[in-house]
Formats: sequence, C-alpha cells, structure tokens
Amino acid sequence: MSTPEVIIIGAGLSGLACALELTKNGVNVHLLEQEDAPGGRVRTDLVEGFLLDRGFQVYLDAYPNAGQLLDLDSLKLQPFQPGAIIFEHGKRHRLMDVFRRPGYLISSAFSPMGSILDKILVAKLRFSLKFASLEVIQTREDLTTNLYLKNFGLSKSMIDRFFRSFYGGIFLENELSTSSRMFEFTFKMFTEGSATLPAKGMEEIPRQLAARLPAGTLRCNTPVSRVDGSAVILASGEKLSAEQIILAVPSDAAQKILPALALPELKWRSVTNCYFAAPSSPLNEAIIALSGDPDSLVNNLSVPSDLSADYAPKGQSLISVSILGIHGETDLLARVLAELHTWFGEEVAAWRHLRTDLIARALPEQNPSTKQPANAMEGVFLCGDQHSTSSIEGAITSGLETARRFLDQRSTSEN
Ligand SMILES: Cc1cc2nc3c(=O)[nH]c(=O)nc-3n(C[C@H](O)[C@H](O)[C@H](O)COP(=O)(O)OP(=O)(O)OC[C@H]3O[C@@H](n4cnc5c(N)ncnc54)[C@H](O)[C@@H]3O)c2cc1C
Repeated sequence: MSTPEVIIIGAGLSGLACALELTKNGVNVHLLEQEDAPGGRVRTDLVEGFLLDRGFQVYLDAYPNAGQLLDLDSLKLQPFQPGAIIFEHGKRHRLMDVFRRPGYLISSAFSPMGSILDKILVAKLRFSLKFASLEVIQTREDLTTNLYLKNFGLSKSMIDRFFRSFYGGIFLENELSTSSRMFEFTFKMFTEGSATLPAKGMEEIPRQLAARLPAGTLRCNTPVSRVDGSAVILASGEKLSAEQIILAVPSDAAQKILPALALPELKWRSVTNCYFAAPSSPLNEAIIALSGDPDSLVNNLSVPSDLSADYAPKGQSLISVSILGIHGETDLLARVLAELHTWFGEEVAAWRHLRTDLIARALPEQNPSTKQPANAMEGVFLCGDQHSTSSIEGAITSGLETARRFLDQRSTSEN
C-alpha cells in the first residue's frame, strides 16, 4: 500500500461516508476494517435462502444527509405502512398516520389507543416539528422523552400503550429515558417519510457506498491494535502511517486503540432478535406489529418478506421478532412463541426458528446527559453515530462532517 494522506479506522457507515467525501475531494485514503466486509452494525446474512439482517432495523427515507449520499433508487426501498398494529390483551388495534392514510381518520379517532385529545396533540406535535430544522432540534432543551411527552400533555395511557412500545423499539429501551432531541428527530423523520427496507436487505446500504470508493481504498480483515502518533499498528504487527488518522469506531473501541483519549464511558442499548420461517405471513401487510402490554417480552414483530419477496424463498415468509435487552435464557423461544400464540393463535405452531441474534452493542445510549465529544484530543478526529444521533443518518452525518473538518484544516494550513 502507498502512504495515504488519511487512514480511517472502521468501515461502518460513518467511516464509509467519510472516505467517500474525502476521496471525492482528491484525498488519498486508506479505510481499514477488522471484519470480512464493510457495514459495521448494518449487515445481512443469507441463511437457507432467507435474508437475515443482523437485528431488525429500518432506513427512514426522509433522512436528509443519507438520502443525498445514497442512490436510493437502486436500493429499491420497500416502505412499511405509516402506522402500527398494537396487540393488547389478545386484542388487535390499528393506529395509522391519518395525514398519509386519511381513509383511517374515523377508525383512528375512535380507536381505544389514546383519547381524542391525545390524537389532536399528536397532530400538533407533527405540525410543530414540520417547521423545525434538524439543526434547531439539536439545540432545544434536552429532557427525557418520557418527560417531554408528559409536558406536551399526552395521557399516561397513550404514552404507556403506544409511545413506550413504538419508541422502545427505536431507542431499544422502554423507560423513554432517551433524549427528547433524539425523539423529535425520529418523530420528524417518521412523519416526513416512510420506514423502509432495501429490497435485498439492509447491507445493500454499506455495499453501495463501498462500491463507490476508488479501488484499493478499503482493506477488510484488518484489525487495528493501536495508534501511536501518526502510526497505525495492525494486529498483524504491520505498521502504517498517514498525515491524519480518523477513528470511525465506537468510543469504547477508540479508547482501546488510543488509551490517551480519555473519553466518557459509552453505554450501549441492546436487543435480541429472533427469526422464524413460516408457511404464510401472520400479518399479510407491510406493517410493524407492537405489543401494548407492559409486561410482554416481545417488543415488535414484522414480516420483511411482506415488503420484499427477496427476504424469503418462494412460498415462505420471514418473521422478525425483537425483544429489548439481551436474552440468552434457554426457554426464550418457548416464551416468545407462547406470547405470539396470544396474538396469532394456532398458526404459530408451524413457525420454524432460523436464528437468534444477541446484539449487546446495538445503539449508543443517548440520554440527555450523554455527550461523546468528537474533538477529544488535539490532532485526532473521531466519528461515528455516538457523536450525532444513534442512527444511519447520524453515522453518515458524522462521517461527512469529519471529512469536511479535515478538508477545512488542510485548506487553512495550505493558505
Ligand atoms: C439492532 C440494531 C437496530 C438499529 N436500528 C436502526 C434503525 O432502525 N434505523 C437507523 O437509522 N439506525 C438503526 N441502528 C443504528 C445504525 O445501524 C448505526 O447507528 C450505524 O450503523 C452506526 O454506524 P457507525 O459507522 O457509527 O458505527 P459501526 O457500524 O459500529 O462501525 C464501526 C466499524 O469499526 C470497525 N472497527 C471497530 N474496531 C476496529 C478496529 N480495532 N480495527 C478495525 N476496525 C474496527 C467495526 O468492525 C465496524 O465496522 C440500529 C443498529 C442496530 C445494531
């Protein structure tokens, strides 16, 4: 490898976005990744003809920076319906975004999920966020989402039965202790666009970015052990150097590579994801199903093959079930299936378990007090979702911003 101007460690979405922006501006970059492929937390495996994303996640097509960087048409994004089905005490309720599905206006108004006042307040929230830019949202008073929703006047019942479950699945915690800025960001994105899946799985997103890098930029199977000044020491013992090193890894990994950083502790939100193969879809529509019962194990269920036929072999359906936290219990599957039996009845008996993923490091905690500085040490650039919003948009935004900081620094030193 020639000596590059910049070495980026980590080929998750932030490292890929950073590398693309730098190479577009003529910078010679080497991007080092420890795994066998780029993508970081956005990976998909082909198992018995099923596409299994490593943890259920969605791409929100209103994401502004990601939308500009990605070629969304070639991802063939398949949208979920704007709303959810909520299972509560064995009963099924539907709550739709009536601004986009006006046909549900009457049934949503009279649905037992929240009072009429709650529904008016949700419309008010939607309207107020429509006119707030993402930059303004990031400067607003930072509360827990729970307090924010209470202060907004929403009833306890609406918070407990809908928000705790829907946003629990997004924040991967259902206390709603996540920052209200993060809530406003995701609420705005959900109301301005659709939650989608790329037709061939979430990993199509990093694959597309990696394919646009100049040949020879990305080096996989290359774990970095240490950074020492301008030198990068690989686990193999090889030593590389560059004018600038960018750590596009989570803060705890950055801290290990460069102990002098002294970053605040990074806490993680975790999730357990179970996949099942089924002879038919229990939902038969592209919609997210949630549990409205506070004591339930299951947070959400979806059927990716209802959105894209590529997710499952012909004649079969793929069912994804998310449970908050890490659940390695031996009776987990039996408990999950017993709970889903109360949702769908006997058809659950025909489901076949495909895989369970225990994802301990899914999302960096983003509570009001959580701050991860991107400029923790002179001369060291850090990027990743922990410096922005814990999301695909946050990772890409952080990668692009870090590239621009480097370009600005270089042009200042040249003048
Ligand atoms: C289960 C789950 C659900 C999610 N749901 C959503 C969702 O619905 N919508 C949404 O927008 N976002 C969601 N996210 C979040 C989103 O996936 C992340 O915010 C984003 O992928 C983070 O990208 P990143 O580049 O910041 O970090 P990472 O993806 O963690 O990338 C860091 C990279 O650095 C590499 N690395 C680490 N250490 C080293 C080393 N020593 N040497 C070399 N390489 C190293 C890693 O292998 C990795 O590839 C979800 C994430 C998970 C896991």
